[in-house]
Amino acid sequence: MVLADLGKQLNNALGQLSRASVVDDKVIEALLKELCSALLQSDVNVKLVGSLRTKVRAKIKKSLEEAETNGTVRESNKKQIVQKAVFDELVALVDPGQEPYKPIKGKSNVLMAVGIQGAGKTTTCTKLAVHYQRKGFRTCLVCADTFRAGAFDQLKQNATKAKIPFYGSYTETDPVAIAAMGVQKFKKERFDIIIVDTSGRHKQESELFAEMVNIGEAVKPDMTIMVLDASIGQAAEGQSRAFKESSDFGAIIVTKLDGHAKGGGAISAVAATKTPIIFLGVGEHFNDLERFVPSPFISKLLGMGDMQGLFEHMQDVAMANPDKQKAMAKKLEEGKFALRDWREQLTTLMSMGSMSKIMSSIPGLSGAMEGMSDEDTGAKLKRMIYIMDSMRTDELDSDGLIFMRLDKDGLPYALNKRAARVARGSGTSVKEVEELLAQARAMRGLAKMAGGMANASKQDSWAK
Ligand code: GDP
Repeated sequence: MVLADLGKQLNNALGQLSRASVVDDKVIEALLKELCSALLQSDVNVKLVGSLRTKVRAKIKKSLEEAETNGTVRESNKKQIVQKAVFDELVALVDPGQEPYKPIKGKSNVLMAVGIQGAGKTTTCTKLAVHYQRKGFRTCLVCADTFRAGAFDQLKQNATKAKIPFYGSYTETDPVAIAAMGVQKFKKERFDIIIVDTSGRHKQESELFAEMVNIGEAVKPDMTIMVLDASIGQAAEGQSRAFKESSDFGAIIVTKLDGHAKGGGAISAVAATKTPIIFLGVGEHFNDLERFVPSPFISKLLGMGDMQGLFEHMQDVAMANPDKQKAMAKKLEEGKFALRDWREQLTTLMSMGSMSKIMSSIPGLSGAMEGMSDEDTGAKLKRMIYIMDSMRTDELDSDGLIFMRLDKDGLPYALNKRAARVARGSGTSVKEVEELLAQARAMRGLAKMAGGMANASKQDSWAK
């Protein structure tokens, strides 16, 4: 089951809970059964699944008892209690509980990638370089894979395409010497991030491990990253333990999560080794690298969106296009974010990368696009643009509060007539307009947080 399917199945199980008229033991047990079956199909270890079932059950029982004591238990919040227990335990399942190394600007951070051949190391090294470059680090690549003919060509080709400086050799056969020379050269040139790609193929595993240790001693990495293919599922635990015994890596990147049935198994197995997962590889393109943080990951998997991730993506885009996006970056910094800005961001995002990836980050949309093709999701995004195109100038330049009825304290409590007019004009529904306003509001909230605006006025409090 690919991750999207796992998410769909988990979502279905939670959907049945929402539809149940009463929440009793039978409903809870049916939910647990479906959740566990979905996780097992995604190759999550049977022991981990068993323990999740026990923990969710205990948590629900405890929370319901507490709510009963407080006299706050109603069918609707019973559902919330169950949903929260499931959400929390799914997060715990993929949470290694460890913080990875964070590269520091102004010093040369050496990152070394290890892993068996075919795991996606070379591709991932380029993705990482592109990622850090976007974050404003001066980044470069060193190819220390002398074993595989063509490895240097592959890295060179990738690096050239992504405009990343690189180092390697066609004649030098000692990987340790190349790695040391490359790192020394780039340190002298004051690069912020030096990424070293190593070889993954040896006749014997012991030779591979010995080489990793030798390169490690020569370049003294600040972080060694193991690159691991998701298709091995729960076997990821054994493989990462074996690597860890010889080369004490500090982080893991799990690749090929875009197409593999065992993705959930690989992520939970790695989390069980208590090593931080820093990114997920979700495709062959340089942009197909997603930051991994347990809670937003589960939120996105369950179709609940990841606004924070989307917001960071927008900031990256702003950095990569200084001319076009300078003004936007400034607005974000100042915490200003009008509906017009949301329109502009959506249009920019639409012109890059996969629609479904963007859509799955937006709460309220990800669930609606289950099984939709990129074309369909593109059509849905266009509807959002139509909504904004039906707005008047003052509405588009506003923060969206203009669409709300306000109570005597100036706080919004319902939509006003403008929303119905916009829905009619754009051929959409009031619900869609309401969703769009909520998304823009969430974005504005994040922009405000990023801008560190402290003194929230009455209007601003709406934007939180
Ligand atoms: P290496 O031997 O570990 O350096 O692996 P490569 O970087 O050469 O990757 C092996 C293959 O996996 C290549 O065809 C890559 O395009 C592909 N690949 C790497 N990462 C991903 C990913 O996240 N998703 C998909 N679908 N393919 C990937």
